[in-house]
Amino acid sequence: MKVTIIGAGPAGIFTAFELGKSGDMDILLIEQGPDIDNRHCPMMRLGRCTYCKICHVTHGFGGAGVFSDGKLDITPYVGGNLEEFVSQDEAWKIVRYVDEVFVKHGGDTKLIVPDPEKVAELKKKAAAAGIDFLEFPVRHLGTENSVRVITNLKRTLKRMGVKIMFNTKVKGIKTDGETAKGVVLENNKEIDSDYVVVAPGRSGAKWFSQEIKRLGVEAEHNPVDLGLRVEVPKVVLEPVTEIVWDPKFHIMTKTYDDFVRTFCVNHGGYVINEVYEDFVSVNGHTMKDNKSENSNFALLVRVKLTEPVQDAAEYGRAIARSVTNIGGGKPIIQRLGDLLNGRRSTWSRIRRSYVRPTLRDVTPGDIAMAMPYRFVTDIVESIERLDYVIPGVAADSTLLYAIEIKEYSMRVKVNQGMETNIKNLYAVGDGAGISRNIVIAASTGILAARSILEKEGYVWEPNLPKRN
Ligand SMILES: Cc1cc2nc3c(=O)[nH]c(=O)nc-3n(C[C@H](O)[C@H](O)[C@H](O)COP(=O)(O)OP(=O)(O)OC[C@H]3O[C@@H](n4cnc5c(N)ncnc54)[C@H](O)[C@@H]3O)c2cc1C
Repeated sequence: MKVTIIGAGPAGIFTAFELGKSGDMDILLIEQGPDIDNRHCPMMRLGRCTYCKICHVTHGFGGAGVFSDGKLDITPYVGGNLEEFVSQDEAWKIVRYVDEVFVKHGGDTKLIVPDPEKVAELKKKAAAAGIDFLEFPVRHLGTENSVRVITNLKRTLKRMGVKIMFNTKVKGIKTDGETAKGVVLENNKEIDSDYVVVAPGRSGAKWFSQEIKRLGVEAEHNPVDLGLRVEVPKVVLEPVTEIVWDPKFHIMTKTYDDFVRTFCVNHGGYVINEVYEDFVSVNGHTMKDNKSENSNFALLVRVKLTEPVQDAAEYGRAIARSVTNIGGGKPIIQRLGDLLNGRRSTWSRIRRSYVRPTLRDVTPGDIAMAMPYRFVTDIVESIERLDYVIPGVAADSTLLYAIEIKEYSMRVKVNQGMETNIKNLYAVGDGAGISRNIVIAASTGILAARSILEKEGYVWEPNLPKRN
C-alpha cells in the first residue's frame, strides 16, 4: 500500500512515523522546502524575522517553528481540541505518546510542571475575577535542541524506510472525484498512491484552500483572533510567570460575551513587527541572551462570523489594514491611560511614562480610531479583569500595540480518523485548520496514520501495528 504525505512539519512527520512502525507500507513524504541541515534564517537570528515567504522559517523538514524556542504544550486542549475526535482518555494518551517520541529523539527530559499549590492559588484568584486559568506541563526543547530532535526524527524515518523528497512542491491532488489517487508535482510528474495525507501547515494553507474548492472537499471558515500586544514592566508579570512559563487566561467579556485569551507571553522579551502584503501587525519574542526590562503578551478576541459573511479572516484583515492606515504604515502604540481618557498617545506622553517601548518603529496614536468599538471594549474589560490576577497590568503606563492578528486556515471537515469526504484523502495539522501547535498537529498525524493502518487491517499489539 502506498501513502503519500504532503508536508514535513510535525503533522506529516508523525503521520510517517506512525505508519512506518508497520514495517511494510510504502511511504513517501514530500516537502517543498529544504532538508533540516540546509535550513537557515539569518533574520531570525537577528531577531528581525517577519516570516517572509522566501526564508526557511516556515518551509523545510520540521515545518514551521523549528527555529522557535520549541515549547511543547502537553495537553490535548491547547492549540486545538483532540476530544473532538477521540475520548478524553485517548486524547491524553496520544498527547503523552507524542511527548514520549520527542523525548526519545533527544527532547529535554525535564518537564516543566508548575507547583500545584501556587497554581491552585492563582486559579482561585482568577476564578474570583471570572477568568479561567489554564495550566499544563510544558516541555521546552529550545531552538538548538529543536533542530537536533527533528534531525533524529528524520534518521528514524529513513531507518523505517520512509522515502523523503525535499525541495519538491506538490501542485495538485489527484482524485477520481470520489477517491484519492495520488499527487501531481510542480514539474507535472504524477505520483500514484492509495492514500494521500495533506499536511501543508499554514504556509501551504492558501494552496490547500484552492485544492479544497477544486476537489469539492467539505470545509468551513475558521474564526480569526484579533487584538493587540500588551507590554508591561517585567516585574508586573513576574508573580505569574514564576509559576507558569506561558500563562494562558481565558475571559468571557461582560458587555459582548466575547471570548478573549492571553497568548504567547514573552518574559523579558521584545515586541516585533510582522509585515504582510497589505498591513503591518505585531508579535512578540524573547532572545536567549538579550533580555529587555519588559514583558509582553497578546490579548486576542475571537471572531466567528455567520451569515451573510463567513470569511472572518478577510474581516480581520480589513481591520488590520485600517489600523495600518491610521498608523501611517506602522503599528499604533498607545498608553492604556490615553486610550481610557479618549486621547491619542504622543512620543512625549510615552516618554513621561516609565514603560520604555521595546518596539520603536511604531506610530503613537489612538487605537479607538481604527479598531471597532466592540474590540476596544473587549480589550479594556479584559485588561481591567486581568488586573485582579496580575496587579499593575491595568496601569495607565501599560503600552498597547495594535494590531495583532492570528488567522487560521479553512477548517476541513474530517471524521475521527482525519479522513475527508473524499475517500482515502486525509487532512491533518495547521493547514487543515484543525491544530495550532506542534503537539496537536503531530497528534492529528497519528490519528490519520492509525486510521489508514486500521483500514488496511492492522491491529495494535500493544504498541506496534501488526497485520490481522
Ligand atoms: C516562528 C514560529 C514559532 C512557533 N513556536 C511554537 C512553539 O514554541 N510551540 C508550538 O507548539 N508551536 C509553535 N509554533 C506553531 C507550530 O510550529 C505549528 O503549529 C506546527 O508546526 C504545525 O505543524 P504542521 O505540520 O501542521 O505544519 P507546518 O509545521 O507548517 O509544516 C507544513 C510543511 O508543509 C510544507 N508544504 C506546504 N505546502 C506544500 C506543498 N504544496 N508541497 C510540499 N510541501 C508543502 C511546508 O513547507 C512545511 O514545511 C510556531 C510557529 C512559528 C511560525
